[in-house]
Amino acid sequence: MAHVLAAVLRAAMVERLAGLTTTDFGNLTSAVREILELHQPDCKGRCRECTGWPRNRKFPCRVWLIAHRHLLIPPPNQEVRHVRH
Ligand SMILES: [Zn+2]
Repeated sequence: MAHVLAAVLRAAMVERLAGLTTTDFGNLTSAVREILELHQPDCKGRCRECTGWPRNRKFPCRVWLIAHRHLLIPPPNQEVRHVRH
């Protein structure tokens, strides 16, 4: 049953993201900010949310790495091109 709910949630999220308009970006930004806040490192440099054994995962966890990959690394077609003078 859990996998059906996960599939429904995933499908709804994919559809929602595909239909984003400019005015939706504020909500998306707030959601990403809130998610990243949950995954801040603790005083020992470990993610507060991502559990592992015997302790939580090291920071940056996968959530931060995914955010970094999608938000900070430019896609290949948008990389800065060096212009020769
Ligand atoms: Zn995490």
